[in-house]
Amino acid sequence: LDSDGFTNDSKMVIDFIAEYYKNIENYPVQSQVKPGYLLTKLPDTAPYCPESLEDVLKDVTDSIIPGLTHWQSPNFFAYFQIKCKHCRVCCYRARIHCNGLDGKDAQAPHLLFLFSGNGGGVLHGSTCEAIVCTLVAARDRTLRNIGAENIAKLVVYASDQTHSALFKGVKLVGIPSSNFRCLSTSFSSEFSLSPQSLEDAIENDIKAGYVPLFLCATVGTTACGAVDPVMDLGKIARKYNLWFHIDAAYAGSACICPEFRHYLDGIELADSLSMNPHKWLLTNMDCCCLWVQQPRLLIESLSSNPEFLKNNASESNAVVDYKDWQIALSRRFRALKLWVVIRRHGIDNLMFHIRSHVNLAKRFESLVAKDSRFEVVVPRRFSLVCFRLKHNDACKASELNRKLLAAVNESGRAFMTHSVVGGLFIIRCAVGSTLIEERHVDDLWKLIQEKAADLDEETGA
Ligand code: PLP
Repeated sequence: LDSDGFTNDSKMVIDFIAEYYKNIENYPVQSQVKPGYLLTKLPDTAPYCPESLEDVLKDVTDSIIPGLTHWQSPNFFAYFQIKCKHCRVCCYRARIHCNGLDGKDAQAPHLLFLFSGNGGGVLHGSTCEAIVCTLVAARDRTLRNIGAENIAKLVVYASDQTHSALFKGVKLVGIPSSNFRCLSTSFSSEFSLSPQSLEDAIENDIKAGYVPLFLCATVGTTACGAVDPVMDLGKIARKYNLWFHIDAAYAGSACICPEFRHYLDGIELADSLSMNPHKWLLTNMDCCCLWVQQPRLLIESLSSNPEFLKNNASESNAVVDYKDWQIALSRRFRALKLWVVIRRHGIDNLMFHIRSHVNLAKRFESLVAKDSRFEVVVPRRFSLVCFRLKHNDACKASELNRKLLAAVNESGRAFMTHSVVGGLFIIRCAVGSTLIEERHVDDLWKLIQEKAADLDEETGA
């Protein structure tokens, strides 16, 4: 593609994206097609000759878009939303590519990233990767002292609300799944991990000959937005020499606002922290910030030094080799998009963005609270509201709420997801769209009330 061709194609793609966003509210939020629908719509073989961009984009409109769930829709209230704000950042990313194979190749990404104290930060694609890397560093630090043959004694601790990323990480790094202590939480502690139950579990394990290794606390759990007590858990981690990781994938972004920062009190006790700007800080997929207190522990576990990558800058330690802070060798230039987001919005607008979502979640919460058929199940802390239709019979309550959620999602007018906490099936309303306004929250609530009334009629309640 020559320069003019690139300009023309880019304009066409940007017009296409702008048109998509203009119409986004007209699409059913959750895809309504059947799995496999695409097989009959697209050709079986790759084209031998190039096709025009117009033809490709037409197929995207006619065949691909109907199969999408529209994560950017203002009526998307499911999971935690993935952000996609700056089309122009997509363009930078497409063309200004930097592999970052070694320090010399990737000075700009290095310069764009922050160091703090003696610790250091790296941008990964996901929290899963960040957790695997920290687990590996923690594992190797301990095995250097007790011998690799004792890997089956290592134990990892977290609450039953912790994201499944941790359990997957445990399996990936060779620690037996049975050594994952999934500690119970309850309504009484608002689903945060109890320091006492952690300490009891550690003591029991030590008595049984195990070696406590790793503790993961979460600030803003996926199921219900719970927050583990970072300070108290950090003190226990220090006492027993555990690696202390904080998973702030979703709510870490909120902590840029002074009123939420206290959730991270005790952060100085952490060995590592990860948060995803692609969840709530206006940054496109994918971007996970991992900070580690002692980068050398990551490097000792992850470094590789093949001949073909050797260069003076790396050899003389004049640069940081981020390939030794992550799993893959090649790196995307994630720092650029985060840097552009921070510069283009400024902290003031980023805080405004967080607060406007929190305020809309509060609005939704108060609408739920005013209707005696419903209840807010877990106190809201950020922009996630967990609620359900009340029913005296626990089994019937679950069935009723499943039906309500299915009816809302099948309408195509909104999309929410569910969770089960403390044995209760709950509906999650996660406010997170960059396009959301008050009217979307009000419409969602009207839709829920409408579907709840239909269920009342069905059940004769
Ligand atoms: N941790 C928490 C608290 C999350 O909410 C999520 C995803 O929603 C994850 C981890 C997993 O993040 P990733 O998809 O970046 O691995």
